[in-house]
Amino acid sequence: MIVQANPGAGYRALKTEIDAAVARALDSGWYILGQEVKAFEAAFASWLGAGKAVGCGNGTDAIVLALRGLGIGPGCSVATVSHTAVATVAAVEMTGATPVLIDIDAEHYTMDPVDLAATLAALPAGLPPFKAVLPVHLYGQPADLDAIGALCRDNGLALIEDCAQAHGATWQGRKVGTFGDAATFSFYPTKNLGALGDGGAVALPSEEAASRVAALRQYGWRTHYISDDVGMNSRLDELQAAILRVKLAHLDAANGRRQDIAAVYDEALRHTAIRPPTRRVGAGHVFHLYVVRTPDRDAVQAALRAAGIGSGIHYPQPVHLQPAYRGRVALGAAGCVQTELAASQVLSLPLYPELTDDEVAQVAAALKRL
Ligand SMILES: *Cc1c(COP(=O)(O)O)cnc(C)c1O
Repeated sequence: MIVQANPGAGYRALKTEIDAAVARALDSGWYILGQEVKAFEAAFASWLGAGKAVGCGNGTDAIVLALRGLGIGPGCSVATVSHTAVATVAAVEMTGATPVLIDIDAEHYTMDPVDLAATLAALPAGLPPFKAVLPVHLYGQPADLDAIGALCRDNGLALIEDCAQAHGATWQGRKVGTFGDAATFSFYPTKNLGALGDGGAVALPSEEAASRVAALRQYGWRTHYISDDVGMNSRLDELQAAILRVKLAHLDAANGRRQDIAAVYDEALRHTAIRPPTRRVGAGHVFHLYVVRTPDRDAVQAALRAAGIGSGIHYPQPVHLQPAYRGRVALGAAGCVQTELAASQVLSLPLYPELTDDEVAQVAAALKRL
């Protein structure tokens, strides 16, 4: 069976280097917020082109820390999307802020700036004022940062990029995660940059913004044992940081491999009725997921399964229809119509850098037969 994602293969591909890094971290005798985290934060910020990076426990906490660092919490609405990992919306609520879920554009699956503009112009009744916009660069494709950034500037709103699926994606040649007031990353094992456990980071433009987030991740401490803010505990540990330092050095090559595999799938799909992913003009897509679209999803998934090919659905239910959120979370002006349609038709094909050429060819051959 060719699986859809395979973090074990990612480990085995770099086993010698990773094992050495793990041994180094264990031997150091220092396991939380030490030299490995410091070195990883510096390397990640430099690779990204951001001012600073602050490691934290996971990608959900990264969003919480970014929002809280910008002073966003109770009494604030945050515009984000329903077509995302539930973590995006959960994180907004963890701060006490109110999420408002904007529809996606049907071609690219990212926040629709037209719906965002309409929603900002007519705040849904009873909601607190908008303070921030949190677009998600879903599947590895940048959201429309020009249009969304302009709306943020015009309305005096903070822009926070959820980059959990987009490490290395670019917009007009510049890496996403450097366009807003803060950007958040997850290092969950299957992400483009994955740890072997949980991890996350917040990227920030300035030292000052970073020091606030760094304090919030550890009880609000700026000096040990003295809380200036009410913080939380969300630290990146030394072991994961040591592993991430190894993985980061291979990330550009891994993203290149993802793009090459995507090109093979594109070609295979040309003579089928199945819609390949659309690349936004000006965007560098890093294919965290290769998501096709078909109204016959169940049949396609079954045919692939019969050919020994696994697939996934990201995501089968939009956040606003999930039991924990249904009927109580606010939607934007467009009512998430495109979001609901996409959720019923999207299918993620196997895509991870360690797929062999032979496996990629097997998937391509099965796609051509669809
Ligand atoms: C994975 C993911 C998150 C959450 O990251 P965790 O590390 O699992 O907390 C947030 N947003 C998006 C878009 C994600 O894909």
